[in-house]
Formats: sequence, C-alpha cells, structure tokens
Amino acid sequence: MFLQPRQVAEALEARAKYGAEITPLGGGTDIVVVLNRQSTGPRHFLDLSRLENYAAIRRENGCYVAGGGATFAQLGRLEVKALSQAAMTVGGAAIRNAGTIAGNLGTASPAGDGCVALLAIDADIELSHATRGRRVIPIHEYFTGFRRTALVADELITAVRFPADWRTAWYKIGKRGSINISIVCCAIGMSPRGNVRIAFGCVAPTVMRARQAEAIIAKDGLADASIEAAAQSAMKEVAPIDDHRSSASYRRAMCGVLTRRLLRELRQDAPRAAGRAE
Ligand SMILES: Cc1cc2nc3c(=O)[nH]c(=O)nc-3n(C[C@H](O)[C@H](O)[C@H](O)COP(=O)(O)OP(=O)(O)OC[C@H]3O[C@@H](n4cnc5c(N)ncnc54)[C@H](O)[C@@H]3O)c2cc1C
Repeated sequence: MFLQPRQVAEALEARAKYGAEITPLGGGTDIVVVLNRQSTGPRHFLDLSRLENYAAIRRENGCYVAGGGATFAQLGRLEVKALSQAAMTVGGAAIRNAGTIAGNLGTASPAGDGCVALLAIDADIELSHATRGRRVIPIHEYFTGFRRTALVADELITAVRFPADWRTAWYKIGKRGSINISIVCCAIGMSPRGNVRIAFGCVAPTVMRARQAEAIIAKDGLADASIEAAAQSAMKEVAPIDDHRSSASYRRAMCGVLTRRLLRELRQDAPRAAGRAE
C-alpha cells in the first residue's frame, strides 16, 4: 500500500485507520537507508510529501511555526542561529532539500541535529490525530528513550513551534564539516529573560539537556567562573559511549569544550543593555 494524500486531514485519517501498519514517509532520507539495509523494513507507506501547507513556516506571536514537512533547506534560512546552522550541517544539498523536521523528530536519533537545536530553544511539538485532534507537548517530554518518543502510532507530527527571539549558538564536531553524523553536537539557547538551555547530541541514548549546568548559568550568569563551572558540570551530566566514531572520553571532554565555547559566544552576542558583569 502506498498512499499519497493531498490534505493533512486525509493523511490523519489514513494514519488513524492503519496505525503502525503504515509508515509515514517525509523526505525518505532515513527510511530509504533502512529499506536498503533490511529486507524486513516497512512495506506500507503514507507519503506526506504532497500535502498542502505541510511544509509552510509562519511567524506567530513572536514564534515560528514550522509545518512537519519543513525541510532543512528551509530551516537553514531562518534567523534562529542554532537551528539554521544545525540545518545547514545536515547531509549535502540534496538531503537538506528532502529531509524534514518531522522526519528528524520521527527518527529521534540521539544524533539528530534538528532535535538538538529544537531542544535548546524549548520548542513545542504538535502531534495530531484525525478525531482526537491536536496535542502540543514540550520537546523535553517528547523523547522517551533510545529512538522512542511520545508519538502514538495513530498520530502524525504536524508542526513544531519555537521562539524567534532567543539568542542561540551551535557547534557540531564530526569528521567533516557536513554530510556528517556528529561525534558530539551542542546547541545553547538563552531566552530574553535569561533562561538558558544547554542541549547535546550523541552523548546519551536520546538528545539531552545538561540541567545542572543550566542552573549554574541561571543563578550566576555568564561570568568566566560560572561558565567554567557549567562546563565542568556538563561533562559530568552526559553519558556517552565508545563507538566507531569516537571514544566516550573524547565526547565527554568535548562537551566541556563546547559548553565553554558556546556560552562565551552567547555572552559576546548579548545586547549591551543587558549589562551583565563579565
Ligand atoms: C547522507 C545522509 C546524511 C545525513 N546527515 C544527517 C545529519 O547530518 N544530521 C541529522 O540529524 N540527520 C542526518 N541524516 C538523517 C536524515 O536526513 C534526517 O533525520 C531527516 O530529518 C529525516 O527526515 P525525512 O523527512 O527524510 O524522514 P523520513 O526518512 O521520511 O522519516 C524518518 C522517520 O520519521 C517518521 N516520520 C516522518 N514524518 C513524520 C510525521 N509527520 N509524523 C510522524 N512520523 C513521521 C517516519 O515514519 C520515519 O520513522 C542524514 C541522512 C543521509 C541519508
């Protein structure tokens, strides 16, 4: 079975009817890899690539609302630095033109660059069902385990909402600058009120936040001493593993380096009126 609806409502009806028997297909940049590797991969598809308005991005009350079908190429043009830079490190141009933010969230890889960037800006994820309607959950509640999420098998990810006015910074360490799965990636976001979010990829079973490091910055600001304390804390909070890309100890050390580097970058970007004493 290969369904290719034009309207989101039709797609939701199909998803509600077939549930886990049918696999949503965004850009296919993850699914096709699975199909090429496994003869036992999914066989029935709900192609979302023809849906009207599914890829649109709009501004609303100080936020961006990106449809699930928004591609990395589209996200790369937004003025949310961490997200746009993360998007531009995904694959090559062909992957960025096809790969969607819903697909990144659907795969929920601990290396998902879009997931890390969205975690650092407190995004909300909109999950929709044909009859139950929409539910919106904060991204930190979305990832429930290794490649497991709060998405129910009869729902679709229909949109992502995130603030447009946070200061953000991003860095990805990998063997190449792009077309590259991270060894470690880090995104940090700071709201206009000074709430900070420090997010990592590739250092735990899911993308994760270093909450104790965040608390240090929330309490003591961006002085050199608190940045150093946050970096030390982040290294303790992560739980990396050894694999073919890197050792756990290198990943852990890089979490400290990236925390230090990106917090300093945010400090440098701070509006002078904020007047923090650094
Ligand atoms: C060469 C190459 C390089 C890559 N580099 C990177 C990289 O640097 N960083 C990175 O993060 N990723 C990378 N990827 C992985 C991939 O491009 C991303 O994860 C992308 O976001 C997947 O989006 P998609 O639309 O292609 O997803 P698909 O392959 O279509 O789907 C992925 C999963 O999400 C589910 N899904 C899709 N849409 C929905 C929806 N609306 N609701 C519910 N579930 C849905 C699917 O059922 C599937 O389980 C790379 C892939 C390739 C092939």
